[in-house]
Amino acid sequence: MFQPRDDIAGSLTYQMRPQTDSGSGGGETCSTYNLLKLTRNLFFHDPDPAYMDYYERGLVNHILGSRRDADTATEPLVTYFLPAHPGATRGFGNLGTCCGGTGLENHTKYQESIYFRSADGKALYVNLYIASTLRWGGFTVTQHTDFPREQKSTLTVTGRGWLEIKLRVPGWIRKGFAVKINGVAQDVRAVPGTYLSLKRVWSPGDRIEISMPFSLRIERALDDPAVQSLCYGPLVLPALNNSRTWRTFSFYKHLKLDGDLGAAVSPLGQPNFFSTHDHTLRPLYIGINDAHHIYFKRVEPTVVFGSVDSGVSNETVDDEGFSFLDRVWQAAPFTNYGRFVHQVRKVSGEWQARGRFTRHDREAVIIAAERAEDDLRP
Ligand SMILES: [Zn+2]
Repeated sequence: MFQPRDDIAGSLTYQMRPQTDSGSGGGETCSTYNLLKLTRNLFFHDPDPAYMDYYERGLVNHILGSRRDADTATEPLVTYFLPAHPGATRGFGNLGTCCGGTGLENHTKYQESIYFRSADGKALYVNLYIASTLRWGGFTVTQHTDFPREQKSTLTVTGRGWLEIKLRVPGWIRKGFAVKINGVAQDVRAVPGTYLSLKRVWSPGDRIEISMPFSLRIERALDDPAVQSLCYGPLVLPALNNSRTWRTFSFYKHLKLDGDLGAAVSPLGQPNFFSTHDHTLRPLYIGINDAHHIYFKRVEPTVVFGSVDSGVSNETVDDEGFSFLDRVWQAAPFTNYGRFVHQVRKVSGEWQARGRFTRHDREAVIIAAERAEDDLRP
């Protein structure tokens, strides 16, 4: 079902209307099925890793989350729509719709976009981190990983000869992407959203070990910066809650100089599960029909640094919808406390010049920043 372009927060509000059936609306699963097909074909024309970032995002969130985590020999147990409004649930079953048919295909073709070769046959693209075995030419490449339940992968090469292996460095990487070959750390420059090229003569048994730590970040709805999702590496982390009203989250008071959102949540026992003080965050790929909140509202009412509250309102936003604290923390990570205070002085100066802060507001904010050194130490 087509929505107006870039209409994200608006379409969620539409889904919340009482006359809208909670089982319909939101993303139809076959839309993502078809967009992944399109993405794969675009990649054949232009091997831009951005296509594979998109592919991974669709695959490990919507597609993986569209199959119920239960065994059955009689029903596909796949979703039709994936409603994304506050308190939405997924319905699994779905014989006889467009998404029921493509949904059967989805879960038989996880392997189809992991590896591609260049047209001249001299390079191998490793696009997705999925346990698999590739037999191609004189090479066999075996990938061992439990990604995204683990943040690493190992490729073992069998065969002998020169080959360029291009590893996709995902666009969500924030804490490095490290590569070892046969246990030896490689001096590589891994830029998120590019391919890292390993060109060498391979010998049977060569092992490539990749470490790609996930980190937490927020993503904002295009049409309302206060409507946000929490992401962890490639994963979307909905908050579990039955309420049909917006959940609200505040994060800035928890941040340290590194700006890492990990300071605002606690890991739970299972991979990719976290808790905030009042919600469980569970990856969307878990196929259970509990009510969840893929999007929440970010509420940051006053300018706070750690436990130091300036008493100044943070509710005024600039022309692009960003608050004072949004603008301060956009410059994170801060390598030292002086740089943090410098950023507060700079943004508060701009805020005062635009009439969003009084002179007194700006002074109170700077004094609070200068008092928060102990709180902000990572
Ligand atoms: Zn469909």
